[in-house]
Amino acid sequence: MPKSTARKGRLVIVTGIPGVGKTTVLTAALAACNARSVNVDLVNYGNMMFEEASKKGLVKTRDEMRRLGVKTQVQLQLAAAKAIARIAAKGNVLLDTHMFINTPIGFMPGIPSWVGESLKPDSIALLEADPAEVSKRRQKDAAIRAREADSPERISEHQLLGRSGAAALAVQTGCTVVIAHNREGAAEAAAKVIADLFM
Ligand code: ATP
Ligand code: MG
Repeated sequence: MPKSTARKGRLVIVTGIPGVGKTTVLTAALAACNARSVNVDLVNYGNMMFEEASKKGLVKTRDEMRRLGVKTQVQLQLAAAKAIARIAAKGNVLLDTHMFINTPIGFMPGIPSWVGESLKPDSIALLEADPAEVSKRRQKDAAIRAREADSPERISEHQLLGRSGAAALAVQTGCTVVIAHNREGAAEAAAKVIADLFM
């Protein structure tokens, strides 16, 4: 599947398990791009799905989306991918999303093949951190975010799956793979690795 030649900018997908620090690092990456006068749109996949669901009158809040049928969720996932591809046709996009979502019947892919085909990413950046640090970050946010309390082993498994997913996406779409380490107190360093993808 050839890459889109009509695209004006680059589409970089950033994935990482909940609490690894995506939103923190992407905010810093955006600031680094702005400082270099490079325009980038920060897009959150979940927000785009919520917009599609709201337009169809399916939900009033984001949390209601999880209770929709799987078939409906897949339709929303694809509609969001098409909306993101339209934004990416006009300029640089940093896409904040999850490679695998933990569900009661197993991990669900955030970027199944039909989404990958629609997005045609230039790069996939995997944000990773030490499992014990991720546990601490989730606990720190417990009052404001309802994140799962996973064991370090489970966090490692989830991160490993993320790498497999990134490799599969790269082989499917021809995008490049970058691993960025979000070390404790060093979000700026991970942000630079991501911002450099637009230089
Ligand atoms: P989600 O997938 O649930 O949206 P996320 O990957 O976007 O999670 P953040 O909300 O950015 O994660 O970060 C989770 C917590 O970790 C926050 O309290 C944030 O301040 C902290 N954090 C992020 N990066 C670092 C870092 N390098 N060092 C220390 N703390 C960090
Ligand atoms: Mg986030």
